[in-house]
Amino acid sequence: MIDINLLTSLSDNIRIDQEKCNACGRCVEVCVLDNLRLQLSPCRQACPLGMNCQGYIRLLSQGRMDKGLETVKEVIPFGGILGRVCSRPCEAACSRLKIDGQPVAIRDLKRFLTDQDGQPGYPSVAQELPQKVAIVGAGPAGLAAAFYLRKWGFRVTLYDKESLPGGLLCWAIPEFRLPKKIVEGELSFIQPMGIEFVGNRILGKDLELNLLEREFNAILLAMGAHGRMKLGIPGEDDDAVFPVLDFMKRVRQKKSPPVGKRVVVIGGGNAAVDAAQTARRLGAEKVQLVSLEKRHEMPAFSWSVTEAEEEGIHIQNGWGPKAFRLKGKRVSGITLKKCTALYDSQGRFSPIYDEKTRIEVAADTVILAIGQRPETDGLDSSLYGPMGVLCDPVTLQTPNPKIFVAGDFIGGPKTIVEGMSQGKEAALSIERFLLGEDLYYGRKNGSIYELQFEPDLSRAKTRSRLSMPSLKVPQRKGFKEVALGYSKEEAVAEAERCLNCGMPFGLRSCWFCLPCEIECPEKALYVEIPYLLR
Ligand SMILES: Cc1cc2nc3c(=O)[nH]c(=O)nc-3n(C[C@H](O)[C@H](O)[C@H](O)COP(=O)(O)OP(=O)(O)OC[C@H]3O[C@@H](n4cnc5c(N)ncnc54)[C@H](O)[C@@H]3O)c2cc1C
Ligand code: SF4
Ligand code: SF4
Repeated sequence: MIDINLLTSLSDNIRIDQEKCNACGRCVEVCVLDNLRLQLSPCRQACPLGMNCQGYIRLLSQGRMDKGLETVKEVIPFGGILGRVCSRPCEAACSRLKIDGQPVAIRDLKRFLTDQDGQPGYPSVAQELPQKVAIVGAGPAGLAAAFYLRKWGFRVTLYDKESLPGGLLCWAIPEFRLPKKIVEGELSFIQPMGIEFVGNRILGKDLELNLLEREFNAILLAMGAHGRMKLGIPGEDDDAVFPVLDFMKRVRQKKSPPVGKRVVVIGGGNAAVDAAQTARRLGAEKVQLVSLEKRHEMPAFSWSVTEAEEEGIHIQNGWGPKAFRLKGKRVSGITLKKCTALYDSQGRFSPIYDEKTRIEVAADTVILAIGQRPETDGLDSSLYGPMGVLCDPVTLQTPNPKIFVAGDFIGGPKTIVEGMSQGKEAALSIERFLLGEDLYYGRKNGSIYELQFEPDLSRAKTRSRLSMPSLKVPQRKGFKEVALGYSKEEAVAEAERCLNCGMPFGLRSCWFCLPCEIECPEKALYVEIPYLLR
């Protein structure tokens, strides 16, 4: 007797043309019998926003720029920002790494697509709903939430302590990495979509949470992490010692402080590296970055550290500040002590020093980039504990059901894409809360997605990554953007490296009902049916 598993064999009748499929998932969504599943490509799984990277790269490789751009924009309207300064977790997961050690340039390709865009478009706003939402903090997290909530029809007021929206995109990240015109262009959805922006309002001073609670149906707190951390050593309040956010903000406001010839930046993260490169552009002759971490442990993006070194920034790894040296009343240098370990026996960050091994470093200006913490001014004490603001990790709802949180405000500094993703998740929770729906529904498991699978890499050939052109070091004057972007030919060639890892597949019995085949926008799916049935 022949042993046929009818269920398995029936699922074999779904044919996918791999050349055409861009893993959009439409077929999976419309399958009446819940037969199809979408293997989510590793890049898409790693993107906190769940962006269909495979899809836009495939479309780009086919020269279909508009459709590729649409794929980016249907997730978030900030492709130009993310295409420049995203931390690119997608690339760390890319299957290409297994073939030739270099991921597809997923982020740079997103930038290419969004750079093709003439005018930023705005999605239509659903019919206006009566519920009002207040968002405090107009950084990446608050902006993403405002975008979605307004798109779904809610009335949104966005408050910020600054006169303009953007958060650290506007006030900290330097223009040589993220030009002002890109931020302004992508934030221009605020007014035409009908979001009210109210600047110069500080929660805890000009705004009271209990008054907001009375006026609005829900509140999102997305105030970032702007509280200053202190070293606790004498001299750190000197005029020549700048907290990094103050320093970067003054530069972005075109009110740069004089930096002198020798600048020392303390810290090993992105803010420290950006500040060091900024100081160089302001005319400092010698810029030293002092990091507790060893080079490979530095939290800054490795590509930013390399770029800073190319620009002549000297990095001293494994040292921490012991004391500031003063000349008269002004800082003239720092004594550094050797850092021998970063964590205690329980794995907590608690640097250990060899107090006797020291070096002296001269400095006219010192920039402290040693981390920021969220500020809880204006918040009821029931909303936070010793570890910061309290919230449900899935819904981002606080112990007060009307109040939600997102971004760096939860637990301290993260990344832009994580902030945007949390803004989007908080918006979804707020929508459900306001409509009386279950906040958890469908959010805990992968539902129609298959996450554990091995992409078929058997036919992949080695092909090196095409690096994006950038300004040569002598050309990096002022705050001109360093990364220049791909030409169309380069972008298409880089997109062709993608191995198209994700794909829909049949799970159990197919009943030939056909919506998958009919709805596939790419005509990539074909259901094989017995002749007489079709
Ligand atoms: C120099 C620097 C470079 C960085 N580079 C990168 C990078 O390349 N890639 C990356 O992914 N991440 C980077 N980051 C981190 C990234 O910018 C943050 O993770 C991200 O901006 C967090 O978004 P957010 O919306 O939570 O907070 P924020 O961007 O900090 O926005 C918070 C907003 O709340 C407002 N606010 C604060 N307090 C109040 C109050 N009391 N009342 C009213 N409004 C208030 C602020 O004015 C601000 O607009 C960098 C950070 C720094 C400092
Ligand atoms: S090869 Fe393509 S689909 Fe696969 S993980 Fe990399 S970018 Fe994504
Ligand atoms: S087969 Fe068609 S509908 Fe299904 S994921 Fe591929 S492109 Fe999308």
